[in-house]
Amino acid sequence: MNLVMIGTGYVGLVTGLGFAKLGHRVACVDTDAAKVARLDLGETPFYEPGMPELLREMQEAGRIVFTTDLKSVIGGAEIIMIAVGTPAGKDGFADLSYVEAAADSIGSLLDHEALVVVKSSVPVGTNRAVLDRIRRAMGAAGREALTTIVNVVSLPEFLRPGFALRDFMEPDRIVIGADDAVAQQTLDRLHDGITAPRVLLSLESAELTKYAANALLATKVSFINEIANIAERTGADVREVARAVGLDRRIGPHFLQAGIGYGGSCFPKDVSALHQMAGTTGYEFKLLSAVIEVNNAQRERFVTRIVEEMHGVRGRRLAVWGLAFKGGTDDVRGSSAIDIVQRLVGLGAEIVAYDPQGMELAQRMLPEQVQFASTAVDATTGADALLVLTEWPEFCDVSFETVRERMAEPNVFDGRNLLAELGLKGMGFAYRGVGIRE
Ligand code: NAD
Repeated sequence: MNLVMIGTGYVGLVTGLGFAKLGHRVACVDTDAAKVARLDLGETPFYEPGMPELLREMQEAGRIVFTTDLKSVIGGAEIIMIAVGTPAGKDGFADLSYVEAAADSIGSLLDHEALVVVKSSVPVGTNRAVLDRIRRAMGAAGREALTTIVNVVSLPEFLRPGFALRDFMEPDRIVIGADDAVAQQTLDRLHDGITAPRVLLSLESAELTKYAANALLATKVSFINEIANIAERTGADVREVARAVGLDRRIGPHFLQAGIGYGGSCFPKDVSALHQMAGTTGYEFKLLSAVIEVNNAQRERFVTRIVEEMHGVRGRRLAVWGLAFKGGTDDVRGSSAIDIVQRLVGLGAEIVAYDPQGMELAQRMLPEQVQFASTAVDATTGADALLVLTEWPEFCDVSFETVRERMAEPNVFDGRNLLAELGLKGMGFAYRGVGIRE
C-alpha cells in the first residue's frame, strides 16, 4: 500500500519504518526541515536500538522517503497517517493544534479516495472532529462533492521507547477504532505480517483505550511508590513486596518498581489529558488526581531526603547518573531526572551529570551551570554524593572501587534502586534506595 506519514517524530519514524519493513511504500512528511534533511542522509534524529540499520535498509530498498512537502506525496496515498505531537497544553488539556493543522493540510490537498488514520494520542471525540475538519477544508478548496471519499480511523500507538521496533513487529495487540467494516479491513491488511490480535472497536473506545492504558500504568507506579513510602516507615522492603505481589497473575510484575516516579513524553501528559477530559464531561476522576499528586510528591521527597541527609546542598557537588526519562532512550521529555536536577540546582547544588544517550537533549533543558562528564566514573570525581536517576543497566558495571576513591564523600542516593544488590554498603558507601531496608 502507499502510505503517507504526517509527523516524523518518535512515533512517525518508528511506525513509518515498521510499515516499510512490512512491504508498504512510505512517504514521511515533517514540517521540521532540518529533521527531514538529516533523515534523507540516513541519520536518525534520536536514539533507538536497531533504528539506524533499519533506516538504511529501507532507504536502499526505496521503500521510505522523507519530505517537507505533503503536496508532492499525497497524490497516490491510500492511507494518510497523522502522527504529530499532542503535548500538554493549557491547564493540562491535550494541545490539538498540530493535529488540526495536519487535518487542514490534508483537506486542502486531498482529491482522491483515502483513509486518514490518527496515530497520535488524542482525547475522545478528536477523530470525528478531524474528519469534519478535513471535509470542511475540502469544501473550502472547492471539492465539496468529494468529501465522502475520505474516512477516519483511530490507530493508537503503544510502543515503548527502547523497544520500539520490536514492539511494532510484536505488539501485544493492535487497536483499531473505526465506524465501518471496509475501513477496519483496510487497517487489517496494512498490518499483514504482524500476528498480534486485532481489537476492533469504535472510534471513541479506541481513543479512550490509549489514555486508559497509560493512566493505569502510571497508577501502578504511583501505587508502588506509596507502598515504598510505607515500607520505609515500617522496616519492610518494597522490592520484596513488589516481587511477591507481582507474582499474582491478576496483577503482574510490570510497573511495580519504586523510585522517583514516572516521566516521559507520554505518561504525564496523557494522565493529565484524561483527568481534564473527564472533568469536561462533568466527572471528577479522583484516582488520577492522586496519581499525579503522588508522582510529584515522590520527586520532591527524593530531593528533601538528599537535602536533609546532607544538611543542605548549597555548594555541594552532586554526581548525577541518568537524565533520560528511563533507560534505553535519549528522550528527556518529562523526565523525573531533569525535574530533580532543576530542583537541586535551584537549591544551590553543583551538578555534574552523565547519561549514556540523553546528554545532548538534556543540555537544552537544564540550566547552564550544570556540567556534563564523558563517563559515569568521571562524573563522580570530587562528588559529595552520587544520585542515580535513570535505570541504565551499564551503571551496575562500573568499578565502584574507583568511584569510591574518586568521591569526596561516599553518599549514594539511588532513585531507581538500581544498585541495591551490589553491596555498596560493604564497600564503604552510605547507600540509600527508595523504600528498601537499609
Ligand atoms: P514528536 O514530537 O517526537 O514528533 C512529532 C513530529 O510531528 C515532529 O517531528 C514535528 O515536527 C511534526 N509535525 C508537527 N506538526 C506537523 C505537521 N502539521 N505536518 C508535518 N509534521 C508535523 O512526537 P511523538 O513522540 O512521535 O508523539 C506523536 C504522538 O504519538 C503523540 O500524540 C504521542 O502522545 C503519541 N505516542 C507517543 C509515544 C512515544 O513513546 N513517544 C508512544 C505512543 C504514542
